[in-house]
Amino acid sequence: MRFYVLSSAIAVGFFVASSAIAQQEEVKLPPQATEFYKPEVKKVTPGKENHLPPADAIVLFDGSNLNAWVSDKPGSAPAPWKVENGTFTVVPRTGGIRSKESFGDVQVHIEWSAPTVVKGTGQGRGNSGFFFMGKYELQILDSYDNETYTNGMAASIYKQHPPLANAMRAPGEWNTYDAIFKAPRFDSNGMLVSPARITVIHNGVLVQNNVELKGPTMYIGIPNYEAHDAALPFHIQDHGDEVKFRNIWVRKLD
Ligand code: MG
Repeated sequence: MRFYVLSSAIAVGFFVASSAIAQQEEVKLPPQATEFYKPEVKKVTPGKENHLPPADAIVLFDGSNLNAWVSDKPGSAPAPWKVENGTFTVVPRTGGIRSKESFGDVQVHIEWSAPTVVKGTGQGRGNSGFFFMGKYELQILDSYDNETYTNGMAASIYKQHPPLANAMRAPGEWNTYDAIFKAPRFDSNGMLVSPARITVIHNGVLVQNNVELKGPTMYIGIPNYEAHDAALPFHIQDHGDEVKFRNIWVRKLD
């Protein structure tokens, strides 16, 4: 009896397996069945060098003026920072600047350089910051031989995620950030649907790998999301240090 049950099970098993093979053989897909032509992938003419804006980028600083920016103080006065030699420099204690245009999901390229006169320690050395949507800070800091809390060093998502590596160049040399930012989504009741995410490459080195932001940047306390517009201006921080910038461009991804 036991032998009969076992052999039936084997027979059924064999039948199922062989019919699956038969089915697989019947469906003979040509390779073209999994090759798609639509929707077309749009052409983007890249910049002459990888740090230069591709054809579909919105240039927020090309070396000539800060017309794409205003003072972050009430009144939207012209950006009060110093433009010279194709760069602009934070003028300490004049306040931050914000982009005139608003952005949501973006690819951003930023170049920045820490002051050559090295003074201060920790957070007091070459501090600025690039804030996506005016709320989510990608830290800018002179992290070249300068110890501070790791989630506050250069290329950190401030007080949330330390970078995966310290790819910092020496003061006065140019650093690049290439970042892909996905804005948070909220439903009509203001509830968070999906948090913001960011990937950052610092001088060609992956430093943030699609990390989830816990909420807007907070100096003190635990971040918490509050519903906001789908697009908001960028903000660059005046933290009292003469950090230089050049070549800022952005591609909208939404
Ligand atoms: Mg900062």
